[in-house]
Amino acid sequence: MELALEVEDLVMHFGPVRAVDGVTLRIPQGSVVALVGESGSGKSTVGRCIVRLLEPTGGTVRLAGADITHLSRRQLRPHRRDVSIVFQDPAGSLDPRFTVGDIVGEPLRLMRRKEIPTKVHEALRRVGLRPEVAQRAPHELSGGQRQRVSIARALISEPRLLVADEPTSALDVSVQAAVLNLLADLQRDLGFACLFITHDLSAVEYLADEVAVMYLGQLVEQGPRARIFGKPAHPYTQALLSAAPVPDPAEQRARQPVLLGDDLPSAIDPPPGCRFHTRCPVAVDKCRTVVPETRTIGEGGHQVACHLVNDDGTGPDVRPDVRP
Ligand code: SF4
Ligand code: MG
Repeated sequence: MELALEVEDLVMHFGPVRAVDGVTLRIPQGSVVALVGESGSGKSTVGRCIVRLLEPTGGTVRLAGADITHLSRRQLRPHRRDVSIVFQDPAGSLDPRFTVGDIVGEPLRLMRRKEIPTKVHEALRRVGLRPEVAQRAPHELSGGQRQRVSIARALISEPRLLVADEPTSALDVSVQAAVLNLLADLQRDLGFACLFITHDLSAVEYLADEVAVMYLGQLVEQGPRARIFGKPAHPYTQALLSAAPVPDPAEQRARQPVLLGDDLPSAIDPPPGCRFHTRCPVAVDKCRTVVPETRTIGEGGHQVACHLVNDDGTGPDVRPDVRP
C-alpha cells in the first residue's frame, strides 16, 4: 500500500499550548481521511503541519515517502507540488491585488512550469468556472465561486495530497452541497489523497474512506468510515455521532444526543490520564491517572484509545438510545 502521507507522533506546541500532542496518521494513495472533532481540538494545526505552514515541534511528516518535517523553504520547493491546502475562508486566502488567473497559476510559476495560461483555463473549467473568470478579481466573485478558485489553485499542480480544512463551512448553506460534490467528483476523477478536516459529519459519511477523531490534541479513535459510523467504540466518538443529523426525520426525532456539558478543557494544562475523563459519562478512577493506550480492535485498522473498550470492540455505549 503506497502512502500519500505518513504522520508519526506529531507534536505541535505553541509555548505552553499543547495544540497537537502525538498524532499518528496514514493516508493511502487516493483515499480520503476525515479528521473530525470540536473546534479547538487541533485539527487545523495538524493540517498546517502537513503542508508545512508550521514546523512541527516533534514527530515526523512524510509526503510520498519523503521526510519534510524540518525542511527549509528552499528544500521544500521540490515537494510543494505533492501537497496543497484549501482553507475555510476563501475571501481571506485569495490575495485581492491579483487576478483570478494569477492566483490559480501561481503554484506553476513557483515551479517554473510552461503553458501557464492554458493550464489555468483547464483548472478553472475543471471546477466549473468559465475561462473568462481568469481576468476577474476575487472580490467580484461569490463565496462559492471564490472557493472554486481556491480549489483550482490547489489542484493545478496535480498534488498527491489535498488538505481541505473546513472547505465549505464559511459558505452559504445553499452552495455548500455543490462545493462538496465538486470536491468528491474531482477526488474520484483525479485520484488525489485527501485529509478532509471538518465538523460536518454528514459530509464525512458522504466523502470519507476513513475517519480519525481528535480530542484535545490527540486521536482517540480511527478506522474505516463504516466501522466508525456503525460501531463507534470511543465514548467521545459516540457523543459526536449522537449529535449528527440523520436523513430520516422519524429517526432524528427519536435520537437523544449525548450532552457533554463542559467546554473543551484548556490545551495549556490538559487533564491527566485520559484527556476526555472530565467529560466522559462512563469514566472510572483509572481514567483520571492512566493514559489509555491506542489499541487495534478490529479489521481495517480500527483503533481506539479507551480503557473500557474490549479487544473485540465491545464496551460502553454512552448514547441513551443505543443498546450495546
Ligand atoms: Fe472515558 Fe475512561 Fe474511556 Fe477515557 S478511558 S473515554 S475517560 S472510559
Ligand atoms: Mg479549524
